[in-house]
Amino acid sequence: MNRRVVVVSVDGLSSVDLPRLQMLPNFRELMERGSVCREMRGIYPTQTYPLHASLITGCYPYRHGISANTLFQPGRTSPDWHWFRRFLRVPPLYDIAHRAGLKTATLLWPAAGRSRNRYVIPEIKTTRPGQSFPWLLFSSGSPLFILHMGIRYRSLLKSLRYYHLDNLTTAVASHLIRKRKINLLLLHLLDLDGTRHRYGFRASEVQKVLEDQDRRLGLLLAASRESGSFAETSFIVFGDHAYVDVHTRIRINAAFRAAGLLDFDTKGKLVSWKAWANCCEGSAQVTLYDRKDAATHRAVTAVFAELQEGSRGVVETVYTREQVEKMRVGEHIDYILEAEDGCYFIPEVEGPVIAPAEDKFRAVHGYHPDRPGYSSLFLAAGAGVRQGVELRPIRIVDLGPTLAALLGLALPHAEGRVLKEMLDLG
Ligand SMILES: [Zn+2]
Repeated sequence: MNRRVVVVSVDGLSSVDLPRLQMLPNFRELMERGSVCREMRGIYPTQTYPLHASLITGCYPYRHGISANTLFQPGRTSPDWHWFRRFLRVPPLYDIAHRAGLKTATLLWPAAGRSRNRYVIPEIKTTRPGQSFPWLLFSSGSPLFILHMGIRYRSLLKSLRYYHLDNLTTAVASHLIRKRKINLLLLHLLDLDGTRHRYGFRASEVQKVLEDQDRRLGLLLAASRESGSFAETSFIVFGDHAYVDVHTRIRINAAFRAAGLLDFDTKGKLVSWKAWANCCEGSAQVTLYDRKDAATHRAVTAVFAELQEGSRGVVETVYTREQVEKMRVGEHIDYILEAEDGCYFIPEVEGPVIAPAEDKFRAVHGYHPDRPGYSSLFLAAGAGVRQGVELRPIRIVDLGPTLAALLGLALPHAEGRVLKEMLDLG
């Protein structure tokens, strides 16, 4: 049997969207034909890269190694992201599928740059002055394929706005389904996330984007029908996280600087540090240079207390290293700060510690996955998937092993489980 799995990550699709999706033809078709879970639990932090890494490896961040979107780079307020496959410490499903001789493709899939898939369009941006975007793009993906697709679908790429990018990657995905007999296709759609960040979690602008995503889903379903492989294809659609609307930002590293924990030279370059926070919007991961240094622990604890107390109460919870370990985030982290509702962390070291949110930034994620109303959505339909199953709460780490099972493979390192209750593998 020649199994095929099409995975569509609709970035930012949340459980609150379900009533609207039931009115959109292609989402509704999948829900009617397949299984649904309206309470998929993410991992901490609920950021796109750690979540996608957890999905595709079936593991928590402490094991797969991507505990935030960005790398831990003290002194850099625009750190590099975990763009590349090499940051994963356990093999992702696409490696296992590739090794088994299956055809795999990743289109803007997080942390899949420079992976060995047959077709790769990497998700990547410049983060340093002087970097060349075309060079980054071609050197991190499949250059001839990118060139070929860029020419073939150039009329769709009117700009690098997410709306146009999603149109382009959907056209490329449809092409791969129709012409290249792909076994595992991983597509990441961005426009819903961009819109929610910009306008707010429940903004009216979201409705139009949900319609656009439904239309794109329709194109993929049509491509599959045209290819003649529809009956052997499983479709998986999910959202990675929900959002919290925000009004206040917290410059946590500026607070460390004020407490004398960061030293800069006269040009403003960081020359030594005792504590630095890698900011994940709704949470911040604090690492001490020397975790045995009791004076630094006292100093950061005083900073945290100030941010938790009184009218400045912008931090909801401080998790200690023992708690961080239990939540399976990452061994290099000494504390995690969870922001209060409406507050988020940014890495800057200059400016007031507490400031109003940026105007163009109305909602964020990155908070603890167990916040009320903060779960995301999972839909599956097609080959190997039972019809009419309403799944009880699942975890995003269950998806990797389940996708593997649909392909007739196994994820040996997975901490999640195969969702057998929705499968009918004959
Ligand atoms: Zn996301």
